[in-house]
Amino acid sequence: MPTAFIKPGRSKSLERRHPWVFSGAVARIEGAPAPGDTVKILSEKGKFLAQGAFSPSSQILLRVWTFDEGEEIDAAFFRRRLEEAFSLRRQLFPEKSEKSALRLVNAEADGLPGVVIDRYGEILVCQFSSAGGERWRGEIVRQLRELTGAPTVYERSDLEVRSKEGLPQRCGLLWGAEPPDLVEISEYGCRFLVDIRRGHKTGFYLDQRENRRLAGEFAVAAQVLNCFSYSGGFAVPALKGGAENVVNIDASADALELARRNILRNDLDDQRVTHLCGDVFALLRRFRDERRCFDLIILDPPKFAYNKSQVTAATRGYKDINMLGMQLLEPGGILCTFSCSGLISEDLFQKVLFGASVDVGRDVRILERLAQGTDHPVLLTFPEAAYLKGFIYQVE
Ligand code: SAH
Repeated sequence: MPTAFIKPGRSKSLERRHPWVFSGAVARIEGAPAPGDTVKILSEKGKFLAQGAFSPSSQILLRVWTFDEGEEIDAAFFRRRLEEAFSLRRQLFPEKSEKSALRLVNAEADGLPGVVIDRYGEILVCQFSSAGGERWRGEIVRQLRELTGAPTVYERSDLEVRSKEGLPQRCGLLWGAEPPDLVEISEYGCRFLVDIRRGHKTGFYLDQRENRRLAGEFAVAAQVLNCFSYSGGFAVPALKGGAENVVNIDASADALELARRNILRNDLDDQRVTHLCGDVFALLRRFRDERRCFDLIILDPPKFAYNKSQVTAATRGYKDINMLGMQLLEPGGILCTFSCSGLISEDLFQKVLFGASVDVGRDVRILERLAQGTDHPVLLTFPEAAYLKGFIYQVE
């Protein structure tokens, strides 16, 4: 097996079971591994550290499959990892219905870096984001067929990050029947149509499941402003929870059209919903100038910070929309705010909200601290995976 030697003094993170090795930590590689091949990772002095997949064009040169020297990286390895991941999900979702949607495999957190597998009812959707995941793609699909009997396994590897791995973006059928244009899923009694081929991520923001339900509980008789609505993930539980009316804002007309269909699908009155296609930042300003008021506001923006150099601009963006949101709330109103930028910690996000509340001159009290759902677990050794954070707060 090809072998990578870690530079002196650079093995600590592997010894602490962090699953990434950056190219700068590697002294030399013996053998000629191809992209995705398994490489034995040793300290400079030859002590075994891990086995990982080789990504020659990425700054993350190696991603660890196992810290066990005796574990072979073969079909049986992937079967074991998939079985473990599925067994956790069975524990987490014992009452799973035919229409449940959940993340079955969450990459590093399930011991499979570069591999994400989501389930939409019977249909599985995979994302392979690294050379290692790509190398074992066929095997993983084979195991998925055997373990789940899914009628369709679809690929959504249309990910920007694949270019860093020297891989092209790719979408399409991996196995079985073509998926329908829209797949219906059920989430705490809400029905959603999901566009597996063209929807964001693998089709739906599964990470917000619990938060959507919770937000719905604050919607009784409320005038709701749902910013960055996508396909109505927060609008449907809000209406079901008794919202008087909902304004959905999204920059995508297709997303809003799907939101409209989702509202009808749940037999909710679409007369109570306004869809605005446009920029949230501009529309919030317009609403403020018009002195509009709401009882419940949801701010679930896309990722603002993709790298460290964008963190400052991102915090300004979060502060901006939260200030506007605070100004648009009735006294005692509720705001559900989120950040899915992994580089913005919960602590920093809270400080941004503090800054916003000071500038707006309104007292804010945190009611709930939110994170991604349990099907998106986080390894203590890999805290980077905890990307989603949110607060439900009340403005005096
Ligand atoms: N809350 C949704 C997910 C939101 S994802 C759910 O639970 O399903 C973020 C959404 O913001 C996307 O639909 C994207 O189209 C939209 N978006 C991104 N930038 C925007 C902007 N500046 N103004 C309005 N919408 C925007």
